[in-house]
Amino acid sequence: MIVENAGEILERHHLCNHCLGRLFAKLGKGTNEERGRAIRFVLNMERSAKSLPPLEEPEKCELCRNVFERIPELVEKMKEASESIEFETFLVGSRFPEEIKEREKSIWMEFGIETAEPINREFNRELGKAFGEATGKETSRNPDIVFIVEPFSRKVELQINPVYVYGRYRKLIRGIPQTPLPDFEDSVASIICRAFSSAFRGKCIFKGAGREDVDVRMLGNGRPFIVEIKEPRRRRVNLKEIAGEINSSGKVEVLNLRFVSAKEAEEVLTKNHKKEYLALVLVEERVTPEEAEEVAKKLTGLEIHQRTPWRVRKARADKVRIKKVYEAESRWVDEKHFELRLITDGGLYIKELISGDRGRTKPSVSDLLGKPAWCERLDVLNILD
Ligand SMILES: [Zn+2]
Repeated sequence: MIVENAGEILERHHLCNHCLGRLFAKLGKGTNEERGRAIRFVLNMERSAKSLPPLEEPEKCELCRNVFERIPELVEKMKEASESIEFETFLVGSRFPEEIKEREKSIWMEFGIETAEPINREFNRELGKAFGEATGKETSRNPDIVFIVEPFSRKVELQINPVYVYGRYRKLIRGIPQTPLPDFEDSVASIICRAFSSAFRGKCIFKGAGREDVDVRMLGNGRPFIVEIKEPRRRRVNLKEIAGEINSSGKVEVLNLRFVSAKEAEEVLTKNHKKEYLALVLVEERVTPEEAEEVAKKLTGLEIHQRTPWRVRKARADKVRIKKVYEAESRWVDEKHFELRLITDGGLYIKELISGDRGRTKPSVSDLLGKPAWCERLDVLNILD
């Protein structure tokens, strides 16, 4: 059947072995070129038995116009395009003119063929194989780089996929914002990204899992973050060296740096972790050790209804969030101060939990004390995950 069909096709269309074999791509093993050659070989044996002239491979294939002969030339172009880029894995995509795809489909329809594959799929595979052999690089579904090839215009585009690195940061001093702000020379993001962009030679984007205010330190095990490096020209980078460079800033420290997938990066950023805080509370009207003790007891296990704080109302949607305080401990400092160590849901604003934010946070430390209280200093001790 195959040979019979092939005979009818070749009497009407001048096809190369690639294009002939590709019509039967779903049958048997091997390359389309091998398939085409084998079919033509058997077909011509039968034709010779019937004293018919052989149907040789044409000078110029009417379907692909011998595009497969351009593979070595395109491999050279791909090597040039990726010369200065560090990568291990790649993928090839190709763009074929509409008229070629149409011509191919019309042959499928003419002969009712259901075993074919499209030309660009074979071309991608063969070009990928040739590039892999020439360079020792491997193809992957999740490649470092992607080549987009236009075989007829000989155009080669290169797309460099991003690198994601997970880490945790500690902010050791007050007075630096997490991301750049006017009037601040440095930010956590700029200190971290400086080291990453110079090592990876790409554009670094910093994303923290939540944030703390400018005047709040981030201590303990640090806050999770992701850096995405766009179009990196280097990939095999020593993360320990990057950590060393950042840590020498004396302002920000990073730990646990490791490479992650895009999916893992997304997960790190969307998880809402419980947090442990240490707040220094100021009570102008004075506070006794017993009162401080009592407040901590009442806070433990309490549900807080917190309307978006007044100070961030322009940046965040105005709504009431319900968050829980899991643990609270107090330590009396002097007649105007006590310390509060808290473990709460992520996303609870602690300064407002203490002040009450003019009734927008209920209940608050001020409510529980029966007198105004302020958060004088705040540290994030730990992110619990
Ligand atoms: Zn062809």
